[in-house]
Amino acid sequence: MIEFKNANKYYGDFHVLKDINLTINKGEVVVIIGPSGSGKSTLLRCINRLETISEGSLTVNGIEVNDKKTDINKLRREIGMVFQHFYLYPHKTVLDNITLAPIKALGQSKEEAKKTAHAYLKKVGIPDKADSFPSQLSGGQQQRVAIARGLAMHPEIMLFDEPTSALDPEMIGEVLDVMKSLAKEGMTMVVVTHEMGFAKEVADRIIFIDKGQILEDADPTEFYVEPKEERAKAFLSRIL
Ligand code: ADP
Ligand code: MG
Repeated sequence: MIEFKNANKYYGDFHVLKDINLTINKGEVVVIIGPSGSGKSTLLRCINRLETISEGSLTVNGIEVNDKKTDINKLRREIGMVFQHFYLYPHKTVLDNITLAPIKALGQSKEEAKKTAHAYLKKVGIPDKADSFPSQLSGGQQQRVAIARGLAMHPEIMLFDEPTSALDPEMIGEVLDVMKSLAKEGMTMVVVTHEMGFAKEVADRIIFIDKGQILEDADPTEFYVEPKEERAKAFLSRIL
């Protein structure tokens, strides 16, 4: 479903992604870990073309992401993204935050979009928050709204970039629970996170990236017990 082939990316002279080869299949949950500045966000952002690769190939469902002919809006509709900071519209209600894109980009009727939004709010465990404003919600609730907003577009792939890093510890679990249930329903997910419990429970693979290079592509249970690469060992000893 997602395939990087000999992909490189530069920011000016800085070689941020080095010869990336990575295949992610439909229904897989792939966790990406690595030190700060190693290129995790850049890798994720290339998938929905928030960034472009400089060399090599990157395809989503067989379509070359960086081809001029590729319909970027269509591509982005198929890929939901959840960020560390939730980026909800502060002056819009939760319901309006969720229905905006389905109405504008998918051409859904207001009624249809509202119905879908309510269903997803229920799914993420906050059915009573439709009329609240983001500032009236906890961080964990805001992040769950962001997930519902992504899901309301019926994406084929969900990307998560450190979705729990900005949350107070007591709110991390509620967001991870929503992500775990999505994973178990078969959503294709690429998740940058250092949450080992999540990775062990639902990830099919762990990708360890350091200085722009994929150093390990491993089974989570094996990776956490016995990483093969010295740099992965050193990294794990710092975060665990
Ligand atoms: P991570 O998510 O693993 O912390 P990033 O992908 O955000 O890493 O960044 C990788 C490296 O690329 C960092 O050194 C960062 O400073 C640099 N970088 C990120 N975005 C840009 C940009 N738009 N222009 C130049 N350098 C960037
Ligand atoms: Mg990052």
